[in-house]
Amino acid sequence: MSTHNPVNPADIPFTSDIVPEVMELETEIQFRCHKEISCFNACCKQADITLAPYDIIRLKQRLDKSSSEFLADHTVPFEMDRDGLPGVKLKTDNDGACSFLTEEGCSVYEDRPAVCRYYPVAMLAMHQKDTTTDEAHFSLVKESHCMGHKEDRTITIGDYRKEQEAEVYDEHNRGWLQLMLKKRSAGPSIGRPSSLSLQLFFMASYDMDRFRRFIASDSFKKSYDLADSTYEAIAKDDIIAMEFGYQFLRQILFAEKTLEEQKGAFEKRIAERKEILEMRRESEIAEARKREEEQRREVT
Ligand code: SF4
Ligand code: SF4
Repeated sequence: MSTHNPVNPADIPFTSDIVPEVMELETEIQFRCHKEISCFNACCKQADITLAPYDIIRLKQRLDKSSSEFLADHTVPFEMDRDGLPGVKLKTDNDGACSFLTEEGCSVYEDRPAVCRYYPVAMLAMHQKDTTTDEAHFSLVKESHCMGHKEDRTITIGDYRKEQEAEVYDEHNRGWLQLMLKKRSAGPSIGRPSSLSLQLFFMASYDMDRFRRFIASDSFKKSYDLADSTYEAIAKDDIIAMEFGYQFLRQILFAEKTLEEQKGAFEKRIAERKEILEMRRESEIAEARKREEEQRREVT
């Protein structure tokens, strides 16, 4: 099972007041959750589940919805930091119960979000050590209603992660978590993202189908120089589109050269802007002349 998590990965160590005891993948915890436990579902009745990009892809595919439909039907927006970086959480009812909770338990269990899988473990940070190994830090959340801590079983966090099939989530969300870590550790030095950058962050992180349409648009193609095979792969595959989104956001948020721009795209944008300004100036001059002419006629 998995569930309510007061310490979402997105919060740590930036906005949470909790100073956790830092644990590693090798650290052993005492915990077991199962259907016969007296507190079964208690955690999902007070759910505070922040979603990462791969969570949304799994859930939208399971529910056979577009990302926009999924977001509208099952999530609520919130701001992840002082700059208004947009986040989304799973919707709850008025009492705080997750909208996917049923009498039998989680109705999307096989595709439940990473935060639900990890509970009562919370991830503090994750780095890729090499191609096959993650270096991650965790903490343990102990809530009084959760009887799983009294169960007679010890397990390392690494094995718990395997048991909960959370590794694939870490693999696919890693690039996104690193983006947020970078933004937060850079602090004010990178400045507050523009509202357009925040909108692009939302689209590339959560609204994958809309992001895919944006990539296929003429305006995108005029700005970025991608191989046809990349466009095709993005059009067909949610995961490839998502990973591409991480690269795109590094360019948008940190001005990293992660994508090749079309030759002269920058100059063209400036030239287009100049043209627009010129047109605006000319129409203002014409308007002013017209007004002057009218005034002159009234006087004579
Ligand atoms: S998604 Fe499932 S496991 Fe997660 S809080 Fe909702 S009901 Fe519980
Ligand atoms: S043991 Fe903890 S995680 Fe499992 S159902 Fe009970 S409260 Fe939820």
